[in-house]
Amino acid sequence: MSNVCIVGAGPAGASAALKLSYLGIPCTLIDKAVFPRDKVCGDALSGKVKLLLGRLDPAILDRFLQIPQQPVWGIRFVAPHGKLIDLPFRTDYDPHTDEPAPGFVSKRMNFDHFLIKEVKRRSNIRFLEGVEIGQMQRSAKGYIIRDKAGSLLLETPLLIVANGAHSRFSRKQAGMKKELSHHAAAVRTYYRGISGFHEHGFIELHFIDDILPGYFWIFPLPNGEANVGLGMRSDFVASKKLNLRKKMEEIIHTKAGIKERFAQAKRISNIEGYGLPLGLRGRNISGAHYMLAGDAGHLIDPLSGEGIGNAMYSGFIAADQAADCLAANDFSAEMMRAYDKRIDRVLGSEFGISRQLQKLLSRKWIAVQMANIIHGNRPLIDFMTAMYTDLSVRKKLLNPLFWLRIIAKR
Ligand SMILES: Cc1cc2nc3c(=O)[nH]c(=O)nc-3n(C[C@H](O)[C@H](O)[C@H](O)COP(=O)(O)OP(=O)(O)OC[C@H]3O[C@@H](n4cnc5c(N)ncnc54)[C@H](O)[C@@H]3O)c2cc1C
Repeated sequence: MSNVCIVGAGPAGASAALKLSYLGIPCTLIDKAVFPRDKVCGDALSGKVKLLLGRLDPAILDRFLQIPQQPVWGIRFVAPHGKLIDLPFRTDYDPHTDEPAPGFVSKRMNFDHFLIKEVKRRSNIRFLEGVEIGQMQRSAKGYIIRDKAGSLLLETPLLIVANGAHSRFSRKQAGMKKELSHHAAAVRTYYRGISGFHEHGFIELHFIDDILPGYFWIFPLPNGEANVGLGMRSDFVASKKLNLRKKMEEIIHTKAGIKERFAQAKRISNIEGYGLPLGLRGRNISGAHYMLAGDAGHLIDPLSGEGIGNAMYSGFIAADQAADCLAANDFSAEMMRAYDKRIDRVLGSEFGISRQLQKLLSRKWIAVQMANIIHGNRPLIDFMTAMYTDLSVRKKLLNPLFWLRIIAKR
């Protein structure tokens, strides 16, 4: 029988293949696309991406730093009443240092292709591109994989399903339902020539009245380009009957503080949309002979919409789990449960806190009050900078007493 099979070669699938390869375990990785290919995304890569690439192999991280990308040193939050909060990733940052920035914006066309080039360097990864999988069928020994035309490709004892947010396997075979309150819809496009960025190119999240809980974003890219988009929780999109494309255009052309910045800008791509299945603590994303990774496992952060780093994490964890399964020759659902536990340990707390913060920020008056308190409060901004890496700081933001104490000190 063949080895481990991974369906989908986005960040989740490519990371699983690379981690397996470094563990000395051969695998087959299959994608319907031929790379380079685009993926509708905001293109923002968090610190997790840099961390994971470096952990896998410092040489890979060096090669990553050579691809086209905009270094990111922080985030500019814009409250519903227009107040700006600039929150750097580190208090002592120096944008002119040789040290790589904590985050990046890199078009998925380039980033995913970079990962695939790494895949192609590895002799123990069999990579099939341009092959669309039509059927993953349970067999006595694992799964039988067929292409769209029904031709048999292989039989595997262990399947890693990483075919993204619209995964049929995830819905039909693993029973992952699309729950609108744990799902977001988003649209994005590219512009050239937007003005008024932060001097160190902070990415921008604009919390605007009628798109809460959600935000409008502008993420600067090299060569004067920017990724521009709008995302919102799907239950609110449905109840407000919003057309996100129209809403985004309305914001760009009519919203004070934004329309002026787009006055000389030119849209250079179509507006495209895609779904974001949001993470929830304690989900079951594995079963006998399979694991779901990345968007197929609903692993996107409910507040920020970050999914690339989480997809890569899940790919790595799936590879480690695969190594344990192969060593024990055990692919049972009980054995796979360890995968769910590992995912929960690494991402579960983040999901819980992000979900609560998302709920909090969906109320306009809270977002406005928080912005008023934070704006210009240097010690508080310094404290909040730690929230990017320290979950306990994020937890504090959920506690009303924390805010009351700050108000009392003013
Ligand atoms: C508008 C938008 C903005 C976003 N912005 C950000 C952001 O700024 N930062 C961030 O971290 N995350 C962002 N995300 C989330 C991020 O895009 C996803 O979390 C990430 O792409 C998940 O990676 P993945 O590998 O699981 O899936 P994908 O990247 O979707 O890869 C799945 C792969 O599976 C392949 N595939 C699908 N079906 C088949 C099949 N039948 N046979 C073979 N291959 C198949 C596809 O071709 C694809 O290559 C955004 C999402 C959206 C929609």
